Formats: sequence, structure tokens, C-alpha cells
Amino acid sequence: MERAQISREAKRTTAKGIIFEIERWSLSDGPGTRTVVFLKGCPLSCWWCANPESQSDRVQIGVFTGKCIDCDRCAEACDKGLALPAVKGGFSGNGPCRACNRCVSACPSKARRRMGEFVSASEVIKEIKKDSIFYRKSGGGVTFSGGEPFRQPEFLAELLATCKKAGIHTAVETCGLFNWETAADCIDLIDFVMFDLKHMDDRHHRRLTGASNSLVLENAEKMARAGVDMVIRIPIIPSINDSEENIRATAGFVREKLDTALGIEPLPYHRLGLTKYAALGLDYKLSDISSPDDDHIQAICHLITEERVRCFSPGSRYQKESNQSQLTRIK
Ligand code: SF4
Ligand code: SF4
Repeated sequence: MERAQISREAKRTTAKGIIFEIERWSLSDGPGTRTVVFLKGCPLSCWWCANPESQSDRVQIGVFTGKCIDCDRCAEACDKGLALPAVKGGFSGNGPCRACNRCVSACPSKARRRMGEFVSASEVIKEIKKDSIFYRKSGGGVTFSGGEPFRQPEFLAELLATCKKAGIHTAVETCGLFNWETAADCIDLIDFVMFDLKHMDDRHHRRLTGASNSLVLENAEKMARAGVDMVIRIPIIPSINDSEENIRATAGFVREKLDTALGIEPLPYHRLGLTKYAALGLDYKLSDISSPDDDHIQAICHLITEERVRCFSPGSRYQKESNQSQLTRIK
């Protein structure tokens, strides 16, 4: 192949990845107005996960019983004999669904929904660039969330590199459980990280998320040593991880080990993802727990500030002070 042809081929080649949503005009996923790209696939399975469709790295078909009119069209459309009306469970269990989408297209009442899509980096970039003017005006940019974005390192690296080249501010939301070496190409391309710390006690972390927190904490320290500005996020689930001991331990770790952390943001637990658990045939383990009220979050913030760490009340300061130069580190 001629040299010029090779370079044309290289330009056309773009990494592919799996995502489950692109949300525009978000005000709660980093500074300013942002486009949030949700990558599919996560090594954790947190009990409170608001996006259970983010956990599998495959395309899934969700079935929403409440919308089903029992017309049987899905069953007729599936040449594998797998689809059943949502009111009868959605799938026959006779084999693996290959997510061909026939039953979804046949469903007249949107009771079946495709969750996840394989896309090229260039397709995603096209969506991101649509709002460039809003990023400039608000001090915003793009946020890669999940799932766990670092699980798709080549795809993420291409997205980050292209955004940086276009002058778009880049942020990543991570659960912290990823291979640092594999993610290395991404790190220098990130302006800002929202890093989740769900529980400091490894025994509880394993029980609540399905994995140890040791690599999570190690990666948080590496991220700080790499010089990346971070906000640490704690999902606040009443009676599960909101003890004074856990909040103080998290704040102490942030203060002592994470030099580039701007502070901690407690994220109130909510139940907005509940219907998706049923749609995917998953159990929801927190059915008896309510969202924390404002007083509860203020009490958590009080503990954090007592530990000499800045507390960002949910959706607050680091969003409003969208000019990056106004963001200051703890130390
Ligand atoms: S997505 Fe395709 S294979 Fe899966 S149940 Fe629907 S029609 Fe059948
Ligand atoms: S096509 Fe849709 S509405 Fe009709 S039975 Fe299947 S899931 Fe229900």
C-alpha cells in the first residue's frame, strides 16, 4: 500500500466502543454545561446503581411490563423463539438473545427497549461537537461516564485526544477500579476527574459493590500523583455507608493522600433507576431505603469540613465556579 493511502486508511480508522447514552446540557457532571457520554460495562455491581444497564458490556433488551399490551408481536418477530410479551417475562429462556432488535422494532408500545450501542469514536465526537459553543460560554466541556470509562481504554483515549485537539475541556467519572497501565494513554488527556469512593472499609466495599477497594484507593493516589484535579464523590446511602466513621475515614484519606483533590461531594442516593432493574430482570437490594434529605447531607458536609476538607454540596460550587482558574486544590 502506498504511504499516502496508508495515512488515508489510518485517518478513516476509528476505535469502536459500546455506550448506552449521550446526555446533552448536563449541569451536574463537572464544571459548566456538559455533554455526558455514558460508556457501558462496569467491574462493580453496587446495590444502589442508578443505571443497571451500565454494568454489562453487551447490548441488552430491557422489557417494561407496565407498557406491554400483550399483543404478541414480539414473539412473532423473533426468529429464535426467544421473545415473549413483557407481561409474561419478556424472554422464553430458550437461549441467548443476540440483540438483533426485531422484537424492539415490532413492539407498538415501546415496552421493549434496546440498551447499548456499538459506535465509533468519530460518531461520538460529532455529537460532542454540536454543543461546543455552550462549552465555551459556560466553562463546560465533555464528561465520559459509565459504567467505567477506563474499561474501554483505546476508545476513551481516542475520544479524549480528539476533544483535547478541538480545545474541549475533558472530564472522566470513574469508580476507580481499572488497570492503571492500560489506562495510561488516557491520563494525560484528562482535565478533571470525578472519583467515587464508596466505602473505606474493604469488607463493606466487597459486600456492597462486589469488589475490594484496594485497587480503587491505589488508583486514587496514582491519579493525584499524576497531577489530575479531582473531586471525590461519595454516594450517600442512609444506613449503608453514611456512618460518621466512614465519612471521617474518607475525608482523612482525601486530606492525607490526594493532593490534587478539590474536595468531596456527597451524592444523595435516589431511586430513579428502579424500573430498569425490573426491565433487566435484576433484583433491587435497597427497596426499604429512602433518599437522604437536605439536613442529612448538610450533616455529612459538616463532618467533612471538620476533617479540614472542602465539601461541595450536591451540584454546587465546582459547577457554578465553572472557570477552571477558580477551582482551588485542598493543599
Ligand atoms: S432482540 Fe432479537 S433475538 Fe433477542 S429476543 Fe428480540 S428478536 Fe429475539
Ligand atoms: S410487542 Fe411489546 S406490547 Fe406487544 S406483547 Fe411484545 S412487549 Fe408487549
